[in-house]
Amino acid sequence: MKISTIGLTKICFLLSVSLCILLFLLSPWRQHALPKPLLVPACNLTCTRIYLESRPEVTRLSTATQDWRRNLVKSPANVGLKDDSRSSDLLQLDDLFIAVKTTKKYHRTRVDLLLQTWISQANKQTFIFTDYEDQVLRQRAGSQMVNTNCTAVHTRQALCCKMAVEYDKFVLSSKKWFCHMDDDNYLNLRALLDLLSAFPHNTDVYVGRPSLDHPVETLDKIKGDGSSSLKFWFATGGAGFCISRGLALKMSPWASMGNFISTAEKVRLPDDCTIGYIIEGLLEVKMQHSNLFHSHLENLQILPQISLLQQVTLSYGGPENRRNVVRISGAFSLEQDPTKFKAIHCLLYPETSWCPQKNHLSSLT
Ligand code: UDP
Ligand code: MN
Repeated sequence: MKISTIGLTKICFLLSVSLCILLFLLSPWRQHALPKPLLVPACNLTCTRIYLESRPEVTRLSTATQDWRRNLVKSPANVGLKDDSRSSDLLQLDDLFIAVKTTKKYHRTRVDLLLQTWISQANKQTFIFTDYEDQVLRQRAGSQMVNTNCTAVHTRQALCCKMAVEYDKFVLSSKKWFCHMDDDNYLNLRALLDLLSAFPHNTDVYVGRPSLDHPVETLDKIKGDGSSSLKFWFATGGAGFCISRGLALKMSPWASMGNFISTAEKVRLPDDCTIGYIIEGLLEVKMQHSNLFHSHLENLQILPQISLLQQVTLSYGGPENRRNVVRISGAFSLEQDPTKFKAIHCLLYPETSWCPQKNHLSSLT
């Protein structure tokens, strides 16, 4: 009887404690004490969702990028992010360092078209890395043209030489992002800013598109003794890629002051592949795969017309495949615009002086 009285007292005590906890959980003032909901890193998470929901046919960001974004929302590191830490409002054209790789023989055929189209919208932010002191290009581009003094050949060494100069010039600038382009890329500046804005400020980002469906595997000749192998993804240079400043600085031991050339030599890899090797293989930072970058290694004709203006980069087939261009109806004939870059540019910037009248353009969209 005595024991059951003690038991009853315990039960009463436990019940009152539970009631207190329940009341505490339901109390209205506690609502204010709750941590604020996690802030989405940038407008783009929302924008991308709205955009994808309204346009399911649009080329989606790859699963890896979407996973990254999901993880980001869950990550405890983001608790307490303030509104003003979102980079979307802050990232501007001036935060970008855009490097275009070219060579003497493409100054008239390729670079002039870029100067006429997207570079005209980012004159100050774009640097043209070439291998010849072309007076005509110098006149048009001024100090934005960089003569690398690298040899004008399509060899691994010559291409790595240009990448090394691009990297060193970026490090000397105070820009937040390094973006590399080939001279057969159309860069959609707004789409690029939108994409980069989605990455939180000060995170290590390497974003682009792989040309292979599997990672590269090579012997680890730098971190190890060369007996074990390293697997890594790399963003193909032909589709363009970007690296955040913090990450670029971490690459410095293997990339700055000519080290990029010796790193590429050691591992015997091309320039873009060496970038992936340093970032994924040595620094162990994962590349963000994005389907918004495009090289002419893919079939560009199958890109839905409605999604073209949302892509970050586009390209066109070389002499071996001139028909590999994006499908877009435009006011220009095939002879006037074989790459379709003019049609794209006029849809993005209809106010451009050489573009057809606005009312004509609207019938094309
Ligand atoms: N390129 C170069 N030197 C050369 C040949 C090409 O710097 O001797 C550059 C070219 O300007 C372009 C990139 O390398 O930006 C890729 O060249 P291309 O498009 O001709 O070849 P791909 O590799 O795309 O087939
Ligand atoms: Mn190319």
